[in-house]
Amino acid sequence: HAKAHGRNTFRFYTREMNTQVADRLQLENRLRRALEQDELFLLFQPQYDIHSQALIGCEVLLRWQDPVEGLIMPGRFIPIAEDSGLIVPLGRWVMREACLQMARWQAQGLQLPKIAVNVSARQLARLDFTDEVRDALQESGLPGHCLEIEVTESTLMEDADLASRQLAILKAMGVRLSVDDFGTGYSSLAYLKRFAPDTIKIDRSFVCDLPGDSEDAAIVSAIIHLARALGMSTLAEGVETVEQRDFLRQLGCGGLQGYLLGKPQDASAIARQLGELVS
Ligand code: C2E
Ligand code: MG
Ligand code: MG
Ligand code: MG
Repeated sequence: HAKAHGRNTFRFYTREMNTQVADRLQLENRLRRALEQDELFLLFQPQYDIHSQALIGCEVLLRWQDPVEGLIMPGRFIPIAEDSGLIVPLGRWVMREACLQMARWQAQGLQLPKIAVNVSARQLARLDFTDEVRDALQESGLPGHCLEIEVTESTLMEDADLASRQLAILKAMGVRLSVDDFGTGYSSLAYLKRFAPDTIKIDRSFVCDLPGDSEDAAIVSAIIHLARALGMSTLAEGVETVEQRDFLRQLGCGGLQGYLLGKPQDASAIARQLGELVS
């Protein structure tokens, strides 16, 4: 009986796995087409100084409008893009579009200090990545300091020597660096010293249960103290409540990003907001 059952189970899994592989492949092919057919677009989520409440930047977040399925979120397609290598042309497109949009805002006389673009390990590992960034800056006429790249700890650790060389080139161009989802990846504190990011982004998972969770409070407080001692700024991700904001301010966090302050929105909504600040 067990044997028969086992066999059935095996066949069931095989079919299931085949379906999963086929789904992935199908999504990969559709994503490739999506890039050619302009189905991708960018949203921008504002980041604020916790004290002055000034807009300090916007994070660029990719979206896919599929004609059949509707809106597809990056959690579903970025991992597939990373595995297939599609993230390279896709990321190049994001970088270029983001810089062009930033330049458009500046041409409209709107003041936004920087845009932050997410960069995957496979992008950073390519030797021509720094050329792509340089091209995107040159084409848009944007100074390097208006661009920040967000990378995770794991991206930095994957090939630390290569990452180090790439980031040194970008730094020489004025491009800033922030470490995304800080505290959730595999890392050592030594790499913080080595990569000297401008900003540490405190992961949303440490923020969501503040102020009640005393362990999270201890972790966030330690990150803020460490960053300050190393001369880096901090920005908390996923801030959704007034209580979280007030607590983070009390702990000495420097920046805020989250639904409480602003959801990811399109370029014209950001422009309207900046326009109101100007007038
Ligand atoms: P991330 O870089 O950590 O981006 C923050 C994510 O948190 C975004 O999800 C954002 O919409 C979401 N978020 C912001 N505020 C709040 C909040 O208050 N509450 C909650 N629950 N969520 C909040 P999104 O847009 O779905 O992006 C997910 C991830 O996909 C990003 O995480 C990033 O790792 C990746 N990603 C997005 N766009 C790109 C891209 O252009 N290139 C690359 N390589 N990765 C991207
Ligand atoms: Mg990010
Ligand atoms: Mg993050
Ligand atoms: Mg993330």
